[in-house]
Amino acid sequence: MELRKATYKLYPTKQQAEALNHALRLHCEFYNAALQERVEAYKKCRISIKNKDQQPQIKVIREEIPEFATLNYSSLQVTLRRLDKAFSAFFRRVNSGVKEPGFPRFKSHKRYPGIGFSSHGDGWRFTPGEDWKHGRLRLTGVGHIRCRGKARVAGKIKSMELLHRRGEWLISLTMECNGVLREPTSGKACGLDWGVNKLLSVATESDGYQVDNPRWFQQEREKLKALKQAVSRKKKGSNRWKKACKKLSTHHRKAANRRNHEHHQLSAQVASQYALVATEKLQVKNMTGSAKGTSEKPGKNVKQKAGLNREILDTAPATLLAMIAYKVKETGGLFIETPTRKLKPSQRCPVCWSVKKKTLKERVHQCEVCGCNEDRDIAAARVNLIWALYELGSETGLHRACSVKPPPSL
Ligand SMILES: [Zn+2]
Repeated sequence: MELRKATYKLYPTKQQAEALNHALRLHCEFYNAALQERVEAYKKCRISIKNKDQQPQIKVIREEIPEFATLNYSSLQVTLRRLDKAFSAFFRRVNSGVKEPGFPRFKSHKRYPGIGFSSHGDGWRFTPGEDWKHGRLRLTGVGHIRCRGKARVAGKIKSMELLHRRGEWLISLTMECNGVLREPTSGKACGLDWGVNKLLSVATESDGYQVDNPRWFQQEREKLKALKQAVSRKKKGSNRWKKACKKLSTHHRKAANRRNHEHHQLSAQVASQYALVATEKLQVKNMTGSAKGTSEKPGKNVKQKAGLNREILDTAPATLLAMIAYKVKETGGLFIETPTRKLKPSQRCPVCWSVKKKTLKERVHQCEVCGCNEDRDIAAARVNLIWALYELGSETGLHRACSVKPPPSL
């Protein structure tokens, strides 16, 4: 059994939205009060209050303040557990010697993320539409709310989070699903490489193809910059400022949705075609963090690297590869990460396995040893594919089923 998430957008009526807002406000108040209690107990008496000390108070508060009695009991428990988690994380950071461990903060109602609901049926029930497309959420005290969205796989609903983001209401369902959810359509294998020039390069046993980077994100960036400037020019708190802020957040959301949508489509396409996908282990942080260097030791090519960093972040390969990974696993396929440092896919020749450094500008792999000539990224993808088929395949017999020649050193 695996746990998966599915997100639906809510379409509450005006009255329902008011009710949701009210509940969110109360939960936020409750969270802050519980935080206050912990802080004061520590300041005055050096006592640290634990979750188990606060949980029994839910009952007392519900008796004393009737408003809280209208809220779902287990949701209040979840809210307290969240505070407890925030404290555990804080102490973990303190113990590991983090310089600014960040004490758990009081939250404003506007920034309060949402309400957690445990067991399905306890004050809430989600009824999916046909094939898990759209559906209805029944929430005690609020009523039936229309939902739009689609769970990619069917499952048993376990818990839910009601989220409030940028003025929108969403639910994130946690569902229990069976391991293999779809059958792979073929037994084919491929190697992947991602890059700045081409978003994805795919090498198959006999061929290869590339997927372009969507350039629209670059254009969106320009627009984003203008919107940000518009916000900073307005007087903070004024009506015009509020309007500009709203425009900016709408733009953010739309751009993120668009990218997400494209990545879902692309990853589904790859997962439906291949039963084995091999790619190098991705470490975006390392790639994007080092351009500037330090003041004693400034980085080289700061300008190019800053540009490259931006593009690396733009294409968001980490989320795309994560999507491909779980979709391939869902079909019962294999997603294999090759060891980047040991294998050096972008420097290695896929035919003779010799290694030669390339600069970022060299877009073609031209082997001086064996004469192999191929697009740089496709060559890297092919190295990943061959490594996966042989290094791992010798145990599973995978390599016998394919026509790729073994590399000399394996
Ligand atoms: Zn070669």
